Parts: sequence; structure tokens; C-alpha cells
Amino acid sequence: MVSKSSLLEERILRFLREIDEPIIQPEIARRLNVSSRDVSRILAKLEKKGVIKREKVIMKGRRTFKVFPLREAEPLDALLECPCFSCPYLEMCGEKQEHDPSTCRKLTEWLLSLTTKTAT
Ligand code: SF4
Repeated sequence: MVSKSSLLEERILRFLREIDEPIIQPEIARRLNVSSRDVSRILAKLEKKGVIKREKVIMKGRRTFKVFPLREAEPLDALLECPCFSCPYLEMCGEKQEHDPSTCRKLTEWLLSLTTKTAT
């Protein structure tokens, strides 16, 4: 099962790849409508993986980071097509919830399509 944290990580990474320019950390949270705390946690993880770089900056008297997407370590393109990234139920989805990944038709079809692609 794909964890919410991994999905958010992929969503943030996809966003950074799409904008393809440095961005202030709070702006990521605002534009993706995600909590600053979650963005900070995921960005620290992405920085450890070497897919982004962060530089400390002062904005309106507060310390934050400027985030630089790095091109060297790009994720698998297929993962970016995961239906969860554009799903309106993502925040409500979870084990034994009304929207459950283990019974989700969209996710199952996408996973099966990956199997088909790799089998050819
Ligand atoms: S409902 Fe399905 S597509 Fe939506 S987030 Fe859950 S598993 Fe993903």
C-alpha cells in the first residue's frame, strides 16, 4: 500500500519539477494547500535523498528556506501518473476508511497497467 507520506512526497516533487525554478518553502505549502509542517518534513526527506537543495533565507523577518529542485535524481515517470495525486479523496483515504486504497478501483487499475507495461 502507498502511504500518505509517500504520496505527498511525490506530489511535492512533481510540483517542484513542474515549476522547475527555486521557490520559497511557505509558497509550496500555500500552492499545494498542505500544512507547512508536512511540507517541511517532506522537504527535509527530499533533501536527504538529494533531489532538492534548500538554502536558508529571511522572508518578512522570518527564517525559512528557498527550495531548489535538482534534475539529477528524477523519480520514475510512471509513479507520477498514480491516480492518487489528482484524487479529491486523497486526504480522506486510508485503511478501513470510506475511501480505502485496498479496495480502490482506480488505484488497482493503475497498478495493473504498470504490471502490463513492465511485462511487455
Ligand atoms: S480513493 Fe483511490 S485514487 Fe483516491 S487517494 Fe484513495 S487510493 Fe488513491
